[in-house]
Amino acid sequence: MSGERKLLLLPGDGIGPEVIGEVPRVIKWLEAKRGIGFKVDQDLFGGASIEAHGKALTEAALAKAKAAGAVIFGAIGGPKWTDNQPERGLLKLRKEMGLFANLRPAVCFDALADTSSLKHDLVSGLNIMIVRELIGGIYYGLPSQIDDLGNGERRAYDTEVYTTHEVHRIARVAFDLARKRKNHVTSVEKSNVMAAGRLWREEVQKIRDDEFPDVELQHMFIDNCAMQLIRQPKQFDVILTGNLFGDILSDEAAMLTGSLGMLPSAALGAPEAGGGPCALYEPVHGSAPDIAGQGIANPIATILSFAMALRYTFDLDMEAHLIERAVNSVLAAGMRTVDVLEDGMTKVSTSEMGAAIVKELDLLAG
Ligand code: NAD
Repeated sequence: MSGERKLLLLPGDGIGPEVIGEVPRVIKWLEAKRGIGFKVDQDLFGGASIEAHGKALTEAALAKAKAAGAVIFGAIGGPKWTDNQPERGLLKLRKEMGLFANLRPAVCFDALADTSSLKHDLVSGLNIMIVRELIGGIYYGLPSQIDDLGNGERRAYDTEVYTTHEVHRIARVAFDLARKRKNHVTSVEKSNVMAAGRLWREEVQKIRDDEFPDVELQHMFIDNCAMQLIRQPKQFDVILTGNLFGDILSDEAAMLTGSLGMLPSAALGAPEAGGGPCALYEPVHGSAPDIAGQGIANPIATILSFAMALRYTFDLDMEAHLIERAVNSVLAAGMRTVDVLEDGMTKVSTSEMGAAIVKELDLLAG
């Protein structure tokens, strides 16, 4: 990507500001030690924005997000906002930015292989990329409502809907990524009982045959995939799936790797004319109100999300890799936030973890 590297930080609520607070350390390091500069802006989002402006996402914040090369977002929501208004703000941001592709890597750092709920050998070296369609399917399909049928009886329905165009664009993202990895895509649906699943399978196959004949494609039903992820997770390279199944599978895959505090994600849109796609990077976890304000949240998921921004938006693969290596070294040295703490390890705070990663970057790059 050429030109200015524009970043918008949206800390959000709960532990959001705490974990996003560690990103500027890494930005400063990149500027000072690698000569890589960023233009950084920040805005309110979610509950914090409701408090200040009466709405979760202001037009001004949305405009900044669309103009940024990458948005780095913390988390939103909390018990104070019971009407899900912050969450609706996030759905609106994703929709407005056209973020149709959600990339969720499930990578097991060697140092954490023993904290997984699966046996060490099953997860050691695990590296899966889940590509989830993010702005279509049953979460957005209409009709979606509850009808009162009278006599105390009600009926609820949601609509799983996908068009050719929606399937094609997300399939291309998955096949492109596979080419940079192990060249294997598993497309997941429920085509044995759902029309949307049949369309999904046929159109994914078409894109593979027409545009990516070199990439290996396997089709799998969602129920089998959920089982295989636990039985033999290392069989997967890229998993391609729709919004609902991707939501569930990515949380399942998350647990293979240890803690929610470790998991980054990216949401990418269509390429803009003359520039890269709109992109939003965020930790998978939420605002964790139970630990907010204590300075103990794990900032690694957020720092790894920033590393994904370096890789996918700014073409800085070497620097992204450096950050990932620094994280692994810090964990291997036994420094742990409370969520990944094991016997005999050193408990560190959010800011101590951020500082340790930057110190390790110095050593690795030195
Ligand atoms: P959560 O991810 O916030 O927390 C689940 C558990 O994991 C909690 O025990 C929490 O302490 C722990 N945890 C999460 N992140 C951690 C970290 N970085 N370090 C250490 N421990 C961590 O999920 P939840 O409790 O179901 O939701 C809390 C709020 O977050 C809700 O309002 C929900 O709507 C919102 N939420 C927001 C997003 C988002 O902003 N993208 C995603 C999920 C949930």
